[in-house]
Amino acid sequence: MRASMSASWAERAACLAEPPDLFFPIGVSGPPEHVARAKAVCLRCPVREQCLAYALETAQQGIWGGLTEDERSRARLRTQRASQTTRETTPIEGKITRRRR
Ligand code: SF4
Repeated sequence: MRASMSASWAERAACLAEPPDLFFPIGVSGPPEHVARAKAVCLRCPVREQCLAYALETAQQGIWGGLTEDERSRARLRTQRASQTTRETTPIEGKITRRRR
């Protein structure tokens, strides 16, 4: 799978030399031993950041960038919440809210 990706970073992926089922376990997270083995490969991967960004943008299944689907979902939620909090506390928005009262 990853070998068929067109992104240039994918050509340097550490998982190219690994069995694909390690990164696509049955179920959302997979057996703990598979997840741990896949994450160990990701830890030494030179394109981990690009891989994770790609998976977050495209909602991939399996383990990407060292995170399971559940972990990426939680990371996506944290990013969204942080973005909302930042927007709510922007000084100019506070001034606009106060003027409307
Ligand atoms: S971070 Fe993991 S899943 Fe992503 S390319 Fe590297 S080894 Fe493969």
